[in-house]
Amino acid sequence: MTLDPLLKQINPPPRLMMGPGPVNADPRVQRAMAADLLGQYDPAMTAYMNEVMALYRKIFETDYHWTFLIDGTSRAAIESALVSLVEKGDKVLVPIFGRFGHLLVEIASRCGAEVIPLSKEWGQVFTADEIAEALDKYKPKVLAICQGDTSTTMNQPLHEIGKLCSERDILSYVDATASIAGNELKIKDWQIDVCTAGLQKCLGGPSGSGPITISDKAADLIQNRWHVEKGIEPADFVPGKKSRIQSNYLDLAMIMAYWSPQRLNHHTEATSMLYCARECARCIIEEGLDVSIARHQACSDAMVKGLQTLGLELFGDLTHKMLNVTGVYIPQGLDGEALRRDMLHYFGIEIGTSFGPLHGKIWRIGNMGYNARPDTVLRTLNALSSCLRLHGFTTPSEDAALAAMEVFKASSAPPEEIEVSPDSDTQ
Ligand SMILES: *Cc1c(COP(=O)(O)O)cnc(C)c1O
Repeated sequence: MTLDPLLKQINPPPRLMMGPGPVNADPRVQRAMAADLLGQYDPAMTAYMNEVMALYRKIFETDYHWTFLIDGTSRAAIESALVSLVEKGDKVLVPIFGRFGHLLVEIASRCGAEVIPLSKEWGQVFTADEIAEALDKYKPKVLAICQGDTSTTMNQPLHEIGKLCSERDILSYVDATASIAGNELKIKDWQIDVCTAGLQKCLGGPSGSGPITISDKAADLIQNRWHVEKGIEPADFVPGKKSRIQSNYLDLAMIMAYWSPQRLNHHTEATSMLYCARECARCIIEEGLDVSIARHQACSDAMVKGLQTLGLELFGDLTHKMLNVTGVYIPQGLDGEALRRDMLHYFGIEIGTSFGPLHGKIWRIGNMGYNARPDTVLRTLNALSSCLRLHGFTTPSEDAALAAMEVFKASSAPPEEIEVSPDSDTQ
């Protein structure tokens, strides 16, 4: 008797995900997700919540008290930040250098903002002078910008931009989903007010939890908009003077009350995702945040060298390339989608397509999180070399992996040291 396909156990094919994210989760993270569940007010659970706050302060390189998780994917965290900061009619300046800049425009305008978009050609980033000029010209309440925009593989320098905003009393918001833990990001030093992230890029987890950090200044503004649902309102509760936040689920004022010692009920914290987010942070901190970034740098250098050895042309301003993803032009006349299908079918390796103006023009090849390792980079280059030749492209050299290995050998962190550290769990 044949088994009803609906009743078959899930058994995903083995894949190596070398696209712009998501990527394979660290097995330690997957094991953490399988741990026993707890009640949301169990002292063990609230202790884990406090640990998560402390761990993510390290990941964001900040001491902002309000550092916690939004239950949902990175987009939920982005939306929670904008819906909680932006009131109807507020001016929001959004420098756009890729798809995720457009997303910030879209979300801010749904929040009722008067959005001022600034545009850059895809493959480039903004200079600090360009941003300063726009801040002076438009005097927005909030600047919303992406750090690493995976759609173009560009990493926007931010070390001056937070300061430019705080000098002008403008709040800065950064989407660092794709860049955090694989590229430098110093929230406190760079004076960024609010930053959100996700797990499925350089943090080595699945999507489904959005870490967020909030400066005291931004937290004050949000708490001024605090309105509590009637059914759980404390007797002496005085609502904030400012307008009520449009979204209930993504209301940061209510979520902060839930993450405060008061533990005022909002949603039920997603327990398994919290375990998972905690393990992502623990693994990176155990490795060292700077070591994690150096590991992404070494993989990026090796990937770039390997792709160039294959005779491929790289996309965009390479001095501002993210360390975890590389854009590469699809050779003239080659069917980019057919090659991607062969990479997946014959090698089990996924590389990325692209969106918007770059669709059909470039592939995006990642090396991030758990997949930022010499073996994954070298396997991807070997597979790509074979698939390119299968599709009739004559590569000047067949040995891209050798060229990449030489980069790994020459880099300050030899493969032994940049490998993901062995499992230290005893459970
Ligand atoms: C990948 C990515 C996201 C993903 O958002 P999800 O809601 O987790 O799908 C958001 N922002 C940027 C810049 C990204 O690269």
